Amino acid sequence: MTHHDYDIAIVGAGPAGATLALSLAHSGLRIGIIDKARFPRDVICGDALSGQVLNVLKRMPDSIYQDFLRDVPKTPSWGIRFHSPGNHPLELPYIPQRTTEQDPPGYISPRLAFDRFLQERLSRYPSIHPIEGEAVKEVKIIPDGVELQTENRIIHARMVAGADGIGSLVRKSLSNRTLDKNYYCMAVRTYFEGVTGFHPENFIDLYFIKDLLPAYLWIFPEVDGRANVGLGLPYPLLIRDRLSLKPILKKLISSDPFISKRFINARQVTPIQARGLAIHRNLHDLSGDRYLLMGDAALGVDPFSGEGIGFAMASAESAAAVILECTRTGDYSASGLADYDHRIARRTEKEHNASAAMQRYARYSWLFNMVVKRANKSKAFQELLSAAFTNVDIRKRLGNPLFYLRMLLGG
Ligand SMILES: Cc1cc2nc3c(=O)[nH]c(=O)nc-3n(C[C@H](O)[C@H](O)[C@H](O)COP(=O)(O)OP(=O)(O)OC[C@H]3O[C@@H](n4cnc5c(N)ncnc54)[C@H](O)[C@@H]3O)c2cc1C
Repeated sequence: MTHHDYDIAIVGAGPAGATLALSLAHSGLRIGIIDKARFPRDVICGDALSGQVLNVLKRMPDSIYQDFLRDVPKTPSWGIRFHSPGNHPLELPYIPQRTTEQDPPGYISPRLAFDRFLQERLSRYPSIHPIEGEAVKEVKIIPDGVELQTENRIIHARMVAGADGIGSLVRKSLSNRTLDKNYYCMAVRTYFEGVTGFHPENFIDLYFIKDLLPAYLWIFPEVDGRANVGLGLPYPLLIRDRLSLKPILKKLISSDPFISKRFINARQVTPIQARGLAIHRNLHDLSGDRYLLMGDAALGVDPFSGEGIGFAMASAESAAAVILECTRTGDYSASGLADYDHRIARRTEKEHNASAAMQRYARYSWLFNMVVKRANKSKAFQELLSAAFTNVDIRKRLGNPLFYLRMLLGG
């Protein structure tokens, strides 16, 4: 057994954990970051990087954003194409009137490459000690700190940040926050080559399926001519209707009249794999005595889009600010860390509530078709919807049913 002493121990080096470590790289704190995987490692994901991810990258130190633009394989994406249950496609550019100089507002990048990019940066800083290929097996509070154990090490730190994904050991060991199956989704994903019919500006495609609403099948254009293809469904629906995602995905690809024509000459290149998403609306109890939870460990995926990388990185950014303040005061108690919960609530709660409302409304195919038809007739309405996906202030209003009524009635 080797012994290590850090100021901050981070469990998990995915987008949440790596962002926290990098955000604290120049703080003078000694940081240990432990991941059970060896990088590069894959994560079952749609691989879509939203504007929120790019904004956090831009604020990170040492020109990370420029290096990301230069080094990470990725497809620039300029919008979303919704296919309503009646298959009326609706194209929504993220930036309705853009200039030629604008950077792409989003990308599709394989997690294998994106997570490796972040993880590789960790070893550039003497203040960060990355440990790969070792699972943390135990986390406990001790007088004046925390103790973590892996197979080979005992680690002491002043506090621990849980960035260890949806099954978080840190959450299970230290917090009362539990995964509620009512706010849980299952999703499957595979990669194809030879899919056709992409939008010339790499819009991401979401096909809403009439009998499975609010579920959608996604087709995202990847680098090297690949497509990331997947399907997600709320867990209560899966159980109620005894559904199984893999055969449904296969059937949609082979015989849905609108989807299958894009796969005529396509070849599946990876197995279909499943992973869960936690879409809790309540984002409280994210911190306590000597710990905080970030990203999927905090159960914070967006209820409508399933986007979680942005939340993972944004929560890590907030965590870094609070940890710096705790270090200044020397107080890592629950009250010292409580500001973290407040920051997350301010940053995400309204947006998550809006997304949860959108997920509810998307269950009604008549409403969906009506919105799409109306948007296809009205440029102004289309621009409003585009803004709803990119402008946080407009997005926050999406939780209010009156907002939809006004839009539909043309107000
Ligand atoms: C099918 C699917 C599609 C998705 N598509 C998108 C998308 O297109 N865009 C998007 O933004 N989000 C998407 N998401 C959500 C996104 O994948 C997650 O929100 C994101 O990965 C969260 O990042 P994280 O750093 O919190 O956790 P993770 O990426 O899960 O990283 C956690 C890390 O912790 C490590 N770890 C776990 N336990 C331990 C332990 N005991 N000891 C040491 N290390 C440990 C793991 O090895 C892992 O590296 C999707 C999710 C699913 C399931």
